[in-house]
Order: sequence, then C-alpha cells, then structure tokens
Amino acid sequence: HHHSGETASTAARLGAVSFAYRDRPVLTGIDLTVPSVGVTALLGVNGSGKTTVLNLLATVTQPAAGTVEVLGRDAASTTALRTIRSSLGYLPQEASWTGSLNVAEFVEYFAWLRRLPRRTRQGAVKRALERTDTTRMAGRRLSTLSGGERQRAMLASAIVHEPALLILDEPTVGLDPEQRHHFRRVLAEFAESRCVLLSTHLLEDVADVASTVLVLHAGRIAFDGSPAELGERSWDDVGGSRAIEQGFLRTINEGISGQC
Ligand code: ADP
Repeated sequence: HHHSGETASTAARLGAVSFAYRDRPVLTGIDLTVPSVGVTALLGVNGSGKTTVLNLLATVTQPAAGTVEVLGRDAASTTALRTIRSSLGYLPQEASWTGSLNVAEFVEYFAWLRRLPRRTRQGAVKRALERTDTTRMAGRRLSTLSGGERQRAMLASAIVHEPALLILDEPTVGLDPEQRHHFRRVLAEFAESRCVLLSTHLLEDVADVASTVLVLHAGRIAFDGSPAELGERSWDDVGGSRAIEQGFLRTINEGISGQC
C-alpha cells in the first residue's frame, strides 16, 4: 500500500534509518527523500556517510533500523528487491574497469549482466553510447581511454538497462575541469526524464547540475533544498550552529552565490 502521489514524485526515501559498522554508528535516524526527476546532490565532508547512504539506497546494504523505499517499493521485501534492482543503476566510487574489452563490448557485457534479451542488446548498447557521447570510442579498449572517456564509458554501462534511478558515488573525482564539465552535461541530459542521485564534495557539481541538494552531517540531513536556497543560508541555520564544518559550507555558499 502506498500513496500514488508520493510515488510519482519520489524516487527513493530513507525513513528513520540507522546504520553502524560494527559498533561505530554512522547514520542515526536519518530521513531523506530523493525526487524522481532531476539531479540530487548529496553533499558532506569525508566520512560523513555519503557512501553509506548510497549503498543503502542502492540496496547493497540493509539498515539496522528504519525503512528504505526505492521506486515506490519497500526494499525489505525480497520480491520488491528484484524489481527495484532491475530499475536501478549504480556506479560505485572509483569504478574503473580496464582490460581487453573495448567500450562497446564492455557496455554489452553489462547489458548481458542485466539480462537484456539478446535481440535488444545491440540497440541498448548503441543508445547508451550515444547518451554518454562515447560512440566515437566504441572500438577502443578501456585501457586506452582518458579518465573522462573512461568515466563516460562506466556511465554507459550503468545506464544500458535504462534505469529509472541512477546512483553515482563521487563520479567526478579524478577528472580534470573539462572532463567534469562534459560528464555533467551528459548527466544533465539523462536526468531530464529520470532521477540521478550523486554524492560529491565539489561545489561546481552542485551549482552546475543539481536541482536538489542534501547536506549530510553528523548522521542526519542538515539541509534539504535547492542550490539557490543553500546559497542563501548561513551555516548556523543548516543543522544548528556549528553543526557543519564551517569552511565546508562557506565554500559551498560562496561558490553558489558566485555562480548563480
Ligand atoms: P563518505 O562517503 O561521506 O566519505 P562513508 O559512508 O564512506 O562516508 O563512511 C562513513 C563513516 O563510516 C566513516 O567514518 C568511515 O570511516 C566509516 N566506514 C565506512 N565504511 C566502513 C567499513 N566497511 N567498516 C568500518 N567503518 C567504515
């Protein structure tokens, strides 16, 4: 049972979720909502729990307490999990396969992993390459690509099954400014009709592509709003005074007001 209105506008939700590694608590009753269209940026300093949140939403891990809802389904249900996972793309941090496969073969391998029927695989690969602007390098081995080209090939592999929700963990790390720009342009196009959730610590990622920003701090969501709203906030407002490392938010603030 769910409310259809919420399902339509929400791609994923954590409700009162707690998570700990052994006896080290990372998330303490976190609530968050990811809208179903556009790019949502999950911001937080190193160690704030961004990867932990993404692993929960990607149903790689399970919470100690609370509810994980993805694409309108409760991830605690084994039958729901199958449906969720078939509609989900996940690019983990620093995913960087190399080896002898060329780009097209690599993406086709993911189409096979995703159980796309043989007759639709070629078409799916072609579309994924087009969307990520990697068609030109279809025949090149992964090991010969630049960082930016390789990251777009990784992205192609993550979207070949046309996921409704795409989750990316720090996807722009290690790319130079031009490569980051190119990557975000590709992402923005994909997010016109789908949901993209990415973690980042780069302000320019937020200012450039995000429609929603979530700031993770001390195991909770300290801010949830638009990039412009975040730019208007003083850090004392966001999660209580001194709740956020001041330098971090100051950088966000200045960058956003500078770019909007
Ligand atoms: P972020 O992605 O924001 O850098 P993480 O979710 O990776 O944060 O980590 C949150 C906290 O949990 C950090 O303090 C990290 O050291 C700790 N942590 C992450 N993974 C593990 C693990 N497998 N075992 C123990 N502690 C972990």
